[in-house]
Amino acid sequence: MAAPDLIVIGAGPWGLAAAWRAAARGARVTLLDDRRRPAAWVAAGMLGPWSEAADGEDDLHRLQVTAAGRWPAFAAELQRASGVDPGYLVGGTVMVAARPEDIGSVRHHMERLRRLGHDAPWTPGSALREQEPGLAPGVAGGIVLEDEAQVDPRRLLAALHAACRAAGVDVRADAAGSLRRDGGGRVNGVALASGGKLRGARVVLAAGHSASRLSGRVPLRPVLGQALRLRLPRDARPPARRVVRTPSAYVVPRPGGELVVGATVEERSDAAPTAGGAHELLDDALAALPDLRELELVEVAAGLRPATPDGAPAIGVDPDDGLLWAVGGYRHGILLAPVAAEAVAELAAGDPAPELAAFSPTRFAAQEAPCA
Ligand SMILES: Cc1cc2nc3c(=O)[nH]c(=O)nc-3n(C[C@H](O)[C@H](O)[C@H](O)COP(=O)(O)OP(=O)(O)OC[C@H]3O[C@@H](n4cnc5c(N)ncnc54)[C@H](O)[C@@H]3O)c2cc1C
Repeated sequence: MAAPDLIVIGAGPWGLAAAWRAAARGARVTLLDDRRRPAAWVAAGMLGPWSEAADGEDDLHRLQVTAAGRWPAFAAELQRASGVDPGYLVGGTVMVAARPEDIGSVRHHMERLRRLGHDAPWTPGSALREQEPGLAPGVAGGIVLEDEAQVDPRRLLAALHAACRAAGVDVRADAAGSLRRDGGGRVNGVALASGGKLRGARVVLAAGHSASRLSGRVPLRPVLGQALRLRLPRDARPPARRVVRTPSAYVVPRPGGELVVGATVEERSDAAPTAGGAHELLDDALAALPDLRELELVEVAAGLRPATPDGAPAIGVDPDDGLLWAVGGYRHGILLAPVAAEAVAELAAGDPAPELAAFSPTRFAAQEAPCA
């Protein structure tokens, strides 16, 4: 069998979506799926470029806005290609001050959004409760972001797997043990954990936080996130229609009756959920939506987010060895998946991806270079 044009390492949303998009452009693609649950399995699936905006992250924010704009077409095409509905939904977000000490933080966020050109006026608690009657009497106020969306990450993964199969991606249940290089140091294949070897014209590293084990170019670390899944009784009214966020927790209601409560952000590398993490999340979520107390607790889970030192993604070709990096989604990897995937498909085909100049995988080496 002919060597693939592209070997993609990692079957998280970035690897799967990149493999699908590249195959849809006509590339012969092999995807290595180590069958471990990706961070995306635990993710809430919020597509929130405005609620996630942070000081000092203007480049990342622009990329998030671009990604949010691509989601409707991406989700529709994915559903057509796979026959699986990924659960894309524009439901809106309410950011609330559930405790007196939250007011400053939510007002600061409102000012940040105004500076970014997105006006979301302060709405008093009484007006918010008219829209979302489940909000606690103690909610002092907040802001409403009507155009934010969500997707169901588990359905997204199922849809991407099906789209890959339909596009002819050769999905192998195996892990990459190491990268193979030619005499000039260019990456030209993969040594498989099972013992075999695979040659490919281009290798894409989309292995989440584990990618640094295969190449040290991008220093990645795992950042643990815990999340809970609750379930509404059949035909019960959800405690909120929209995503509800406080400065320390969020609740994502899904149409099927599932609610995701998230998420901790912990500098830990073991993916075990803890009693303390669940307690913290419930305490913060109940301060905003007290009726959650009555719901069935279905799952406590944890995942390891792939984080770079500056919290922004690394997407692009390493000019030294030709390795194509697609890592560092951190807290926004579901939102950024369509942009990352399209960029990988473009770069693999030899086309430029200009919107990603600020996210080069080589920027960390540049920071470490000694001053002249
Ligand atoms: C609790 C929580 C909540 C989150 N909520 C959101 C959210 O609301 N919105 C949002 O946008 N993002 C969210 N995220 C972040 C998002 O899940 C990640 O950024 C995203 O999953 C990154 O995608 P990825 O494909 O790069 O990595 P991953 O999802 O981690 O997938 C990488 C895959 O590569 C595999 N792999 C590793 N090494 C190898 C190897 N050597 N060979 C083969 N395969 C390998 C791994 O096993 C894994 O399956 C959340 C994350 C967590 C933990």
